[in-house]
Amino acid sequence: MDTVAQLRDERQLLNDPQLAARVRVTAGRVVAAVVKQYPHTADWDWSVALIDDPDTVNAWCMAGGRMAIYSGFVYKLGLTDDELAAVFGHEVSHAIANHTAERMSMALVTEVGLLAVAANNEDLETRLAVEAAALLAVTLPNSRAGEREADRMGIELAARAGYDPAAGASLWLKMEEEGGSNPLQFLSTHPSPNNRREALLELETQVRPLMPAVPPAPYPIEVLTAY
Ligand SMILES: [Zn+2]
Repeated sequence: MDTVAQLRDERQLLNDPQLAARVRVTAGRVVAAVVKQYPHTADWDWSVALIDDPDTVNAWCMAGGRMAIYSGFVYKLGLTDDELAAVFGHEVSHAIANHTAERMSMALVTEVGLLAVAANNEDLETRLAVEAAALLAVTLPNSRAGEREADRMGIELAARAGYDPAAGASLWLKMEEEGGSNPLQFLSTHPSPNNRREALLELETQVRPLMPAVPPAPYPIEVLTAY
């Protein structure tokens, strides 16, 4: 059973055609920019699961291109399309830069106890353990150095996808304000490096010239919903 099937069984997927349409375009354009910059990712199994959880501010991308975004992230923070693209750019960057794979090995070692899982192991129990570790991995924190790298790569990818890079800084400002009284799950897995917003403002200036006159067509990704 894969994690998306689990989400579907537990009826955790969102029924929201309007948001599904926004995600198909925003994530699709970011993935189009990713595949152009990192051609090996054309083989990835690109998808976004919309998770019905209005209280949780979170999103993730597994190694291999499976993403998820929680409804609380979009609606609590009132995300614009530019900010949605900033979220997808950031998450995808963790996967491209192998941060997700590093967390996956940590999860395998610490929780599942499988140090040497053969990549081609067809054994069902091993596959289930690997799936469990993949889901656990997205709950482990990235390093602050990893965050800096994902901020830099993510804002560039969103700009190449035709989204306003000012959304990088505005997104983190919204998260700081929302998280003031109540720590957000997203911030526990994406700890802020020093001066994150200042760094994002500087990156904004650097990557703005990369915005194309005509944005790329959305890459065909699967959007998993409850309908
Ligand atoms: Zn991050």
